[in-house]
Amino acid sequence: MRQIGILGGGQLGMLLAESVQRHGGKVVIYDPDPRAPAAKTVSQSICATWTDTQAIEKFFGKCDAITYEFENVESGAIAPFENSKPILPSLHVLRTCQDRILEKTFLKDAGLPHVNFAIAKSPQQVIESLADVPFPCVLKTTRGGYDGKGQAFARTNRSIKPFLQSNTISEGLPVIVEAAADIALEVSCIVARSPSGEEIVFPVFENIHKDHILDFTIFPARISEALSEKLQQIATEAARRLDVYGLLTTEFFICRKPAANSLAVECDGYYIYVNEMAPRPHNSGHVTMSACTLSQFDVLARILLSIPMGCPRGLAPGYYCMGNLLGDVWLAQGATTPGDLDLSALAQYPEVIDVVLYGKAEARSKRKMGHFVTYADDAKTALKAAGQFRDSLTNTRVATSQPG
Ligand code: ADP
Ligand code: MG
Repeated sequence: MRQIGILGGGQLGMLLAESVQRHGGKVVIYDPDPRAPAAKTVSQSICATWTDTQAIEKFFGKCDAITYEFENVESGAIAPFENSKPILPSLHVLRTCQDRILEKTFLKDAGLPHVNFAIAKSPQQVIESLADVPFPCVLKTTRGGYDGKGQAFARTNRSIKPFLQSNTISEGLPVIVEAAADIALEVSCIVARSPSGEEIVFPVFENIHKDHILDFTIFPARISEALSEKLQQIATEAARRLDVYGLLTTEFFICRKPAANSLAVECDGYYIYVNEMAPRPHNSGHVTMSACTLSQFDVLARILLSIPMGCPRGLAPGYYCMGNLLGDVWLAQGATTPGDLDLSALAQYPEVIDVVLYGKAEARSKRKMGHFVTYADDAKTALKAAGQFRDSLTNTRVATSQPG
């Protein structure tokens, strides 16, 4: 039986572990947090820091193939074991996608569309870079950012001051200054490639963010076939050029107007830019668990287990909408433990076809604790039902917190 190692034990690791086990494999989870959700669902886990060389060596010793569920794995600590076992996608892919400078440079060198950017290593260089990347722009740390963390939207000299005083740049770490895109739509596209030469691309997902965190994903995206094909083509090209074996999720900005001094691909009256890439399952891809014949996790599990990955297709002609459940829903309900979420609102929403809770130990504001999926004949109804269902959950008070 093949043993698959997953670096990171969050919800992506947990859902991937389920797929691997369903396909006959065994899973070892590596995570510094003993309460990591994925560690509870597998027979073996290693709880150690990302730089514990001995623990990493032990982990590699146990596994036939290794993958990771988030980009911020310390690639330096894994590098000594790179040639001992297959890492899918490779360490080179991980390094490129975990560092915005390498990522943007890859896009530039590959001739893939992206918004104009500059690299700055000091507050002075940020100011100088404004000549090439004028306001409005977005300042981003090069590493460790997610869900909008480590970013600042800048319209004026005054608005960049807090970012310039932040630790990152004052410690001499470089930042990216990139043109702000006037976004009409955000979408993502997952490509899967196996070492045996199979290559598939999922339909395009439409993503709606709130406070820079993914809020809803609509499947399929409400775009023309031509635009959809163009996006799939660019996502596939990115995966090929990066030499990805495993999954690559490419996030795109779709704009009505071109971003300043930026390389766009034009299609159907839109300007397309790659925003960023993730070499792993993606939050937007959760929708595939309900909407497709095979989920993003199934496809990656099959690649890791060296079995044919098949071709994921949409299951029904209507629209699916995945909504994230953040810790705020638990806090609003007064649910004291994560298992206490009151789901009685489900009775009013037959459109909700799936609810997945990750079993995280503690509900915190903005923390991803679960998701759900609705289905309807049209996207508007699926999205509306998703919004109303989540509002109903938020407005439910758990029995114990009610007076009397
Ligand atoms: P992460 O997802 O790692 O936090 P992103 O670069 O994807 O970082 O940024 C998060 C969100 O912030 C994007 O999905 C988009 O909504 C917004 N954003 C990021 N960069 C830009 C940009 N250059 N122009 C406009 N909006 C942006
Ligand atoms: Mg993103």
